[in-house]
Amino acid sequence: MQLITITLDGREVSGYSGMTILELANEVGVTIPTLCHDPHLSPIGACRICLVENEQNGALIASCVTPIASDMVINTKSERVLSHRKTIVKLLLASHPDSCLVCNKGNRCKLRTIASDMGIGLVEYQRITQVATIEEVNPFIERDLSKCILCARCIRACQEMVVVGAIDYYKRGFATKPATFGDNPLERSECTFCSTCLAMCPTGALTEKGSLYNGTTSHETQTICPLCGCGCAITLEVKDDQMVRTLPGSTGVNQGALCVKGSRCGDMVHNANRLTVPLIKQDGDFKQASWDEVLDIIANKFKQIKNAYGADSLGVIISAMCTNEENYLVQRFARCVLGTNNIDSSARLYNAATFNALNSTIGFYGANNNLDKLEQSDVIFVIGADPDASAPIVAYAIKRAVKHKGAKLILVDPRKTGLSDFSYIWLRPKPGTDVALINAMAKIITDAQLVDEEYVLRSTDNFDDFKNCLNQYTSEYVESICSVDGKYVGDAARLYAEASHASIVWGTGLTQYAGGADSVKSLVNLALLTGHIGLSGALYALEKGSNSRGALDMGTTTYYLPGCSDVSDNKARSNFEQAWKVSLPTKRGLTALEMMQQAEKGTVKGMLIVGENPVLSFPNGQLVTKALSTLEFLAVGDMFISDTAELASIVFPTTSFAEQSGTFTNFEGRVGFLHQAISCIGVSQPGWETILKLAEKMGSPMPFSTLQDVSDEIETLVPTYKAYTGPDKLYDSELVDWEMKHVQKSMTKAGFPSFCTIQNIPEMNGKSENYPYKLIIASSLYHTVGGSGIFNNNRLKSLVPFDFVDLAIQDASEQGITTGDRVRLVSPTGEITVTARIVDSVPKGVIWLSFLHTNNPLQLFDIVLDKETKTPLTKACNVQIEKVVSHE
Ligand code: SF4
Repeated sequence: MQLITITLDGREVSGYSGMTILELANEVGVTIPTLCHDPHLSPIGACRICLVENEQNGALIASCVTPIASDMVINTKSERVLSHRKTIVKLLLASHPDSCLVCNKGNRCKLRTIASDMGIGLVEYQRITQVATIEEVNPFIERDLSKCILCARCIRACQEMVVVGAIDYYKRGFATKPATFGDNPLERSECTFCSTCLAMCPTGALTEKGSLYNGTTSHETQTICPLCGCGCAITLEVKDDQMVRTLPGSTGVNQGALCVKGSRCGDMVHNANRLTVPLIKQDGDFKQASWDEVLDIIANKFKQIKNAYGADSLGVIISAMCTNEENYLVQRFARCVLGTNNIDSSARLYNAATFNALNSTIGFYGANNNLDKLEQSDVIFVIGADPDASAPIVAYAIKRAVKHKGAKLILVDPRKTGLSDFSYIWLRPKPGTDVALINAMAKIITDAQLVDEEYVLRSTDNFDDFKNCLNQYTSEYVESICSVDGKYVGDAARLYAEASHASIVWGTGLTQYAGGADSVKSLVNLALLTGHIGLSGALYALEKGSNSRGALDMGTTTYYLPGCSDVSDNKARSNFEQAWKVSLPTKRGLTALEMMQQAEKGTVKGMLIVGENPVLSFPNGQLVTKALSTLEFLAVGDMFISDTAELASIVFPTTSFAEQSGTFTNFEGRVGFLHQAISCIGVSQPGWETILKLAEKMGSPMPFSTLQDVSDEIETLVPTYKAYTGPDKLYDSELVDWEMKHVQKSMTKAGFPSFCTIQNIPEMNGKSENYPYKLIIASSLYHTVGGSGIFNNNRLKSLVPFDFVDLAIQDASEQGITTGDRVRLVSPTGEITVTARIVDSVPKGVIWLSFLHTNNPLQLFDIVLDKETKTPLTKACNVQIEKVVSHE
């Protein structure tokens, strides 16, 4: 890139071709005030506050939109510049209402700060009254457009960053304002209430409705959103040890954007229902107790059960929302203190298909590139994922790639999602027929000689066997199995193969079927076939749980020690035995669902469950409830009294993300640091402290005094975490490069990545006369899975107060159902009652249900485990639908 030198305030400074004066000034430490500018948005030069003087021709120019040119002589602080800036600010103030004293933006208003920095007090200009109605019907954002300065930061955030486009300039001249289509209220627009616009707004025009706590922020803490695998950087504003609000961090995977869940993630922290003290159940009721009492009871009960029935009569389950350090300590506690491999987590439960498939084919679990590279792809293939709901930051990146960078999206989803309108090809196969579809694409690629032969010959194994297994996947076959037009499958295959950089994104819509690992392996085949792995493409698995990737890395699985070493591998096990100074159990343990089955049979007698709510988040809640009630002893750690906690003998309080430090590993493999922002609520304490105390009470103390001690051991025993030392490395781009190199190394370490000969298996849970509808369960943007925190988020609840099931128009009319009717969904295992919504987004015969507030849709599922990964089938099942009550 060409280096360009200019004179800035009398000093020679150099930048690169294409840089603006403002960017160069920022880089060399010269401050220029701005209002409409933000580094995440395209510059528009609307406010003119950033003007500077070109001394060569005397022009006053907006520095945010003027590129540097050789030999420019720029003055940023001349009297003329300062006087013009002052005039602009005074003009803005003349049309700004006198409500600073009551403005909720308070001391964060950029206009007021700039005016104060310029020494502007009273404004001598004639006032221009702005009249605007304050709009506050929705539960999240208050709009007072009398304070709007038309900087368009909100409009650009909505259109450029999150690509929703709910607002734009409306009307012209003095009447101009940012508004929705037709100037409707936000709740009747496309707006998802992600609040990225709110964080961008420099004045009080957009403020948060119902702040958690009033007052001027006394300090800010940079931390990580705990609500999904994206692991967005957030800033928590704090006053008086209370969270005031959550803002997006400007770095990290999210680069200044958030989703509706993340921008309200603080709501759960100060929720009135938080569990604040340990509880002991006596005569069916919980009584408050001290930490010492409850830890003594847990330790004694576990020792008694172990002595009487053996270590494998105990089991431990931890949530994928717990930190790496907590996961590491919990698995060490299970293996070293209890002496069992009966340790499992929701991370393995819901992500094992991806985990096993990637480990066994390319030797590396997780995304093999970062989100930036996904956005730079020229073809993106999304299958079995609705990132709009489950990983919004990934959806933003895909939409930006399509809308602003010309990428073509291949979408495979039976249901219309937020990505459908962005797709170049949208295939709607029958649920559960993914392997047939992917194999058909592979056959078209091999038949059309679009295989990257050099890559296949040089870098892969088992191609010939794979090619032979594709013979049956003709166009006619795929049409009969998947009900999609073979022509479009061919178009999709060719588009993917011919791309210069193609990425694949998948989620639980692929993996939570029996045979999910096979579907992932067939995607790996596709990537190997075309060489779209490494420099010319990547694979991205979206994960359930904020720390699924980290939990698996930390070894909270029945069969893997930390760093994915198999428990039955003598050499790997002996490394850990030396480090931990114990003999470790050698055989694989029970998975979480197997623990439930064995508890019901009376073989498993005692359990510890941390942060997980199996009664709601496991299939067949009736069986889970019975199993947990049968236990001799159950201890549960949670932030709230969950349905599972209700069944426990002991419940102890855990802390929220805002009250503890530690690390999360996001879906890219990026390690983000949680930093404690406020004191623990009540006498709650972080899970890692509880586990250490419990180990001590059981007579097997672990050698850690601080969280740093735990991190140090992780870095020693889990080699990939060695590169992530110290909080100042957060989001260091060198780490991302390091990670990519590690992926490449890991892919070739155990030999070449291998093609798998995967065949389509007849659909599990196939059609049934009594249960003729295929029910698909999915995340919704306003809810997430399992965690009690989101169920306790009142603002999210108020936006989506009902439990909806979406029905196709034809199905609804056949059943005489209209929107708003209460309907009962009945499966062989259970039934739930919800409100019907008639939509055109689902095909006939398919009904769609999101995870909800009150009902547990997984009651409808029996426990059916994938034979390879032992993960439960929780994506689709057959149901009957019955109208219960007509909508009034
Ligand atoms: Fe939080 Fe996920 Fe939303 Fe990011 S995308 S703000 S991590 S819920």
